[in-house]
Amino acid sequence: MNSNNFSKAIDLTEDLIDNVIPENSVGIFLLGYSPCNNGKFNPLYLSRCDCDLNNTLKNHIGYFSQFKFCLCDSISYAFFYECKIFHYLSDNTFIINETHPQPPPDLFIKCPVCGK
Ligand SMILES: [Zn+2]
Repeated sequence: MNSNNFSKAIDLTEDLIDNVIPENSVGIFLLGYSPCNNGKFNPLYLSRCDCDLNNTLKNHIGYFSQFKFCLCDSISYAFFYECKIFHYLSDNTFIINETHPQPPPDLFIKCPVCGK
C-alpha cells in the first residue's frame, strides 16, 4: 500500500487531534489499533471528510484507540486516494466498512480503480 502520505499512528484523543489537524481540513483517515505497542498499526475503518476532519475524528473517540490521517488539497483528490486505499485494504485485510467510498455529491467523478 502506498501509505507514505499518512501520518504515523496517533492516539485518538481530543488534544492529539487538535495538535495535528487544523479546523475545516479535507482529508482521509484510518482508525485502528496497535497491539502490544509493537508499532504495527492495524487499520479497521477507513473514511474521508470533505469539510472538517478534526471534528469528524472526534466523533470516533472511545470506539477506536488510534488513527492515521492524510490531509488533502482537494475533495476530489481525497476521494481518489480514499478509493485506492479502500481497494487495497479490501483485498488484503479486514476493515469494518465494506461499502465503497461515495464520491462527493457535487462532483461527477468516479473511482480510479473500479470506475464506480
Ligand atoms: Zn472502486
